Amino acid sequence: MDRLIAPGIWQIDTELGGWPELNAVFLVEGRRPCLVETGPQRDSTRVLDALARRGVGPSDLAYIVLTHIHLDHGGAVGEVSRQFPNASVVCHPKGLRHLADPTRLVAAAGLVYGDRLDSLYGRMTPVDPDRLKGAEDMQELDLGSGRLTLVDSPGHAKHHVAILDQSSGVLLVGDAVGVKVPGGGPLRPAMPPDDFDRELAISSLHKFAALNPSQIVLTHFGPAGEPQAVLSEAETTMRRWCEVAEHAFSEEPSIDHIESALLERVFEPAEDPGRQPVVDTLNGFTSNAAGMHGWLVRRRDRPAGAGG
Ligand SMILES: [Zn+2]
Repeated sequence: MDRLIAPGIWQIDTELGGWPELNAVFLVEGRRPCLVETGPQRDSTRVLDALARRGVGPSDLAYIVLTHIHLDHGGAVGEVSRQFPNASVVCHPKGLRHLADPTRLVAAAGLVYGDRLDSLYGRMTPVDPDRLKGAEDMQELDLGSGRLTLVDSPGHAKHHVAILDQSSGVLLVGDAVGVKVPGGGPLRPAMPPDDFDRELAISSLHKFAALNPSQIVLTHFGPAGEPQAVLSEAETTMRRWCEVAEHAFSEEPSIDHIESALLERVFEPAEDPGRQPVVDTLNGFTSNAAGMHGWLVRRRDRPAGAGG
């Protein structure tokens, strides 16, 4: 279902895995409209149908912006960009080469998701390199009747940007603030492998707070509540989960041990039991434990004096 979340901003449900209210893409209308996220390859038809329904013709779309290149956010970028030949494809500079050649990205996702890669997400096809543009921090995109600001926001991944709509103040934060799906329990931090970094993630939250957005909108899923309260909850929760992981890591530096500690100390069940597998599939404890384990290993092994 399409939902108008602010003047000129449509939230489109990709129905990832057949589940409603789990994964979104956003259409920012304008004389030069912009699609933020494409969803996974498996959902490309639903996204293309929604754009047609909203009256976006093949030559209309000016930009496709990905908050980051994980497959639930950008897996359909090859299919969608082919249908909109005038659209520039914008992502963090560190993600560009993977959009031109997704082989390694898809292989890495295969290691994380196994059999579910094809049933849930699909893969990714390349984007013509001539159409790719790297997002600079605080760069503006002119939509003809409005402007977006791209906000470098590493932490969840090093290739993450958020998108601020200047007229409404809505901040589309991708996964940088976490995941909270209706009925699925409280806000969870999203700390997957391979490059989760707590300090970067928290400075990105502070950067968002300083922008004073009117709304924080999660790709998983939708407007999250009073912005400063959401950002402070995200920081508190992330610090708490990382503390539990650090303690577990000091006892036994394994992903399994971190995961057990998280399940024992921070797990809060979904209000709607039917939503538990949904949130766990997208942002489970194994993935978060693995992401924090990687961060702790890199921190332990960093040469003395490397700082940070
Ligand atoms: Zn992600």
